[in-house]
Amino acid sequence: MKELNILPDEVAVKLAAGEVVERPASCLKEVVENSIDAKASLVDIKLLSGGIKKIDVYDNGKGIHSEDIEYVFNKHTTSKIKSVDDIFSIKTMGFRGEALCAISSVSKVTLISKHHTEKLGNMIKVEGGKVILKSEYPFEKGTKIIIEDLFFNTPARLKFLKSNSTEQRYCTEVVERLALCYPEISFRLEIDNKVQIFTPGDNKFESSILSIFGKEILNNLIDFSYDDNNIKINGFFVNPTISKSTRNGYYFYVNKRYVRSKILTSCVDEAFKNHIMSNRHPIIFLFVQVKPEDVDVNVHPAKLEVRFKDESYIYNSIYKTITK
Ligand code: ADP
Ligand code: MG
Repeated sequence: MKELNILPDEVAVKLAAGEVVERPASCLKEVVENSIDAKASLVDIKLLSGGIKKIDVYDNGKGIHSEDIEYVFNKHTTSKIKSVDDIFSIKTMGFRGEALCAISSVSKVTLISKHHTEKLGNMIKVEGGKVILKSEYPFEKGTKIIIEDLFFNTPARLKFLKSNSTEQRYCTEVVERLALCYPEISFRLEIDNKVQIFTPGDNKFESSILSIFGKEILNNLIDFSYDDNNIKINGFFVNPTISKSTRNGYYFYVNKRYVRSKILTSCVDEAFKNHIMSNRHPIIFLFVQVKPEDVDVNVHPAKLEVRFKDESYIYNSIYKTITK
């Protein structure tokens, strides 16, 4: 070859990591989603310095098998799908098998886990993608992952991070969004040794709302729902006497996945147009459930966007439901 280089694996992995791991909040999202996929009923999160110095997540889920633990950091290694077709019947948050690979290539990771079928746990430490320690480790249940010194080996990317307090806010938003959609899981978020979020995990959406937004929002919720063979819609909006100057009160979930969506945004804008002061926006929690084959969840590196097969059907069903 004359002008071409084949990039060495460690370079390719770091470049790919840029898509998944942008900041502490993206790491946090990936590991908490892994806890959800592991069927945890409790997720305990601790952050130091906006997550840049340390992200520590414990879950009481099914754990990782001793035969698997050293491979979870390899690229394209997942327990969630086997073939491309599986993407259209996905029931888990993750499926690409790239998050732990990406995270561990740009940070120092300690992973401790005990598989529910085994007696003893295991610990593994990985720095910049290299395994530096692996041993048996007594551990009661579940999985603990500690991510330290994010971007320690990619200083150029460290420079792109914002202040600790801004990174901390992004991390808090990640936990809020997940806690609202998974009221059956108890989430605890501690930042610099102070508890910021605690949801009881009693499977009531109202409990999550109360702990995250407080009494006033809870007391002003108006619920809506719709169900046919192709779509299930339910959710709550807040009485529009309480409104926002931005659209950051739009919480959209498709098949239990928080998403940003132009079509859902314009649908909500349109539905509230004549019911809210101009230049104000509602607070709305919208949960949409469609058949896995009717939505493509593999169109965004951080899985923050989805593509619907029949956009106008989705739009019209939601518009009808909200306006009613
Ligand atoms: P993906 O979630 O797309 O499969 P990840 O890189 O996030 O890819 O994780 C790789 C694998 O590691 C998962 O498929 C899962 O088997 C295992 N794993 C990661 N975190 C946990 C956890 N908290 N509990 C149990 N298994 C986990
Ligand atoms: Mg994952």
